[in-house]
Amino acid sequence: MAVFMLQRTGVSQVMNVYDQFIQRYPDLASIIEGSAEELSRVLRPLGRVDRWPVLKALAVTLVKEHGGDIPDDLASLDALPGVGQYSARAVLCLAFGKPRIMLDPNSYRLLSRACGIVTNKARPHADVGLIERLDAVVPHDDPRAFNLALLDVGSTICRNKAPIHESCPLRKVCRFWVESAKTPQSVRVLR
Ligand code: SF4
Repeated sequence: MAVFMLQRTGVSQVMNVYDQFIQRYPDLASIIEGSAEELSRVLRPLGRVDRWPVLKALAVTLVKEHGGDIPDDLASLDALPGVGQYSARAVLCLAFGKPRIMLDPNSYRLLSRACGIVTNKARPHADVGLIERLDAVVPHDDPRAFNLALLDVGSTICRNKAPIHESCPLRKVCRFWVESAKTPQSVRVLR
């Protein structure tokens, strides 16, 4: 549910809604039986009033096609209403501990700068070919920590504007930073 709510929505917004939602809708049946008006009202603070029909469809599909369970394979998750590649991979990694990359704009920017990983797609974090290749770099022993660290460092340190290179745990191995030390002008450009 948290992954569903976090689609195009900030963490602070979701935190204000999540507990209330789980108390009111503790299982799939309560979502399916809940009124559209109340579901819409509870989800409204997330800022997307169009989300409740998708959530209802998701609950119905999980009950009808998966016996009320969350599937643990990419194809089944990706086929669910309202679940895209990123959400499917987030569920596989965070809920099932599977080594799948969670590539969003922040983690892509970090990998691009630190490792020189690039794609010519307009939306790199939606490049399925790149995403599938990056699955191979996710460690099997703790994929959750790996992905959460990527997202965290990508959003707070390797920021789009004014990255904080000096505080970055990757600066000794970062391709961009190491190259920048030889050509300081490029650091000033990135800043
Ligand atoms: S050293 Fe700088 S460019 Fe490299 S990953 Fe860290 S913040 Fe990003």
